[in-house]
Amino acid sequence: MFRILRKTLGIGVVTEQDPAATDEALESLGIEVKRLVEARFNGSLAIREVDAGSCNGCELEIHAMNNPYHDVERFGIHFVASPRHADVLLVTGPVSRHMETALLRTWEATPAPKWVIACGDCACDGGIFGQDNYASCGGVEAVLPVDLRISGCPPAPLELLAGLRALIQAS
Ligand code: SF4
Repeated sequence: MFRILRKTLGIGVVTEQDPAATDEALESLGIEVKRLVEARFNGSLAIREVDAGSCNGCELEIHAMNNPYHDVERFGIHFVASPRHADVLLVTGPVSRHMETALLRTWEATPAPKWVIACGDCACDGGIFGQDNYASCGGVEAVLPVDLRISGCPPAPLELLAGLRALIQAS
């Protein structure tokens, strides 16, 4: 007990304010994304998120996109429950063998044109959990064609928003 307390006091506070996560940065990026969504997706971009084997760290950041601070719905970005309503699949985690078929079926159920984003280091290349592992296929590209990789462990909401801007600009 005292050993843990001494260690905690010795380390101190390790978190700090993200200097990039300012209101101004979010607002200007969001307005740019909204213009692109209006021009290319008739005002509404639908995302189906798929956890293919994540530790859920990436999901926490993705959920934060919908919190009252980021509130990305005001920029025309909507998360949907069914792949049949989606333009984009946002996939997290290394693809576990158990999720391989489900991920493929989700992709097949998504109407064309469709895009796939690998979200987080694990989805990009297997990360720390999904390399040389009997239970894992590795990164998303081992199972599906990937249009965009957003690295980070996990990527923050602003990085996810910047990734969506890059995807729309390239589409
Ligand atoms: S990239 Fe990091 S946060 Fe995301 S699933 Fe992998 S280990 Fe978890």
